[in-house]
Amino acid sequence: MNNFTYIAADTPKQAANIISQNPDAAFIAGGTNLIDLMKENIAKPNQLIDLNKIPGLDEITELPDAGLRLGALARNADTAYHPLVQERYPLLADAILAGASAQLRNMATNGGNLLQRTRCYYFYDIATPCNKREPGSGCAAYDGYNRMNAILGSSEHCVAVFPSDMCVALAALNATVNVSGATGERQIPFNEFHRLPGDTPQLDNNLQHGEIITSIDLPPGGLNKNYSYLKLRDRTSYAFALVSIATAFELKDGLIVDARIALGGVAHKPWRVTEAEEFLKNKQPAKESFTQAATLILKGAVGLKHNAFKIELAKRAIVRNCLTALNPDK
Ligand SMILES: Cc1cc2nc3c(=O)[nH]c(=O)nc-3n(C[C@H](O)[C@H](O)[C@H](O)COP(=O)(O)OP(=O)(O)OC[C@H]3O[C@@H](n4cnc5c(N)ncnc54)[C@H](O)[C@@H]3O)c2cc1C
Repeated sequence: MNNFTYIAADTPKQAANIISQNPDAAFIAGGTNLIDLMKENIAKPNQLIDLNKIPGLDEITELPDAGLRLGALARNADTAYHPLVQERYPLLADAILAGASAQLRNMATNGGNLLQRTRCYYFYDIATPCNKREPGSGCAAYDGYNRMNAILGSSEHCVAVFPSDMCVALAALNATVNVSGATGERQIPFNEFHRLPGDTPQLDNNLQHGEIITSIDLPPGGLNKNYSYLKLRDRTSYAFALVSIATAFELKDGLIVDARIALGGVAHKPWRVTEAEEFLKNKQPAKESFTQAATLILKGAVGLKHNAFKIELAKRAIVRNCLTALNPDK
């Protein structure tokens, strides 16, 4: 680990001002990802700007439109167990609780969860090439052991996946990320927050250096009746997803009037296919339709040597999770 200085920020603006003057500084929140990356010499900030002491950033508050604002510094556990999250956005609560361990969720923050880095083995192994860690060095995963890697949206430069569970539900729920920078504030629709690797795999998302996530907004209508989060992994706890799925429906008079299906563990960002969701609208919920939607979602999927099984796994998991969402209490 390299040497670094430490400063605790008092306001988002102050944090943004400090970081915008230092390209090698980093914010620290729960530290559950950043400290690991520093210990492995993958992240080498020369200054840590602590966000934990900024008042109000850990709050969860109702919005005037009956939506909910999740503070960026609210802990994952506090978010998942918050009564309003449980009541209105149970899909999000389930997704958060499928991630990591109780100890980690007590420490990890909502903002940090959005910005956690990939778990690709080669990103963590500094003896191997990795375009995400060191642009231009190559991708060892492409021809390496790529069981956990992407089947959708990857490029020749990077086949890493984004590992968050929470973000799969946030994508399905059409969340918005609120951001503050030295020059002002802006909102980023969730589906535009994370990026595909293309030829810049070192960039995971569209946050600029100098910007701080202050909160995440959930729109009203949390699709809290027909929903399900399914996470398939090599171990049943404390493991990242091979494939995960957040599904939610709004049903009316026996028909699907709104459908959301987001996938995790398959791409560089949570994966949603509007065409598949539109296909399900105004149809009766039925296994045949879910199977066709799954085919649409996996259109263009490409398997590598060790992960081609994930294509069929994802299709079957989508169908199973759609059926579970029809009866979430069973
Ligand atoms: C063993 C282990 C298992 C895990 N398993 C899972 C799992 O199954 N599913 C899952 O989803 N996650 C899992 N995680 C990841 C965990 O959820 C993340 O480490 C955590 O959410 C990161 O939050 P943090 O507050 O600790 O972030 P930090 O480590 O403090 O920061 C992470 C990054 O975000 C930046 N940052 C933090 N907050 C802000 C902000 N407000 N504005 C701008 N930048 C910010 C930091 O600069 C840093 O780059 C696991 C982690 C570990 C260590």
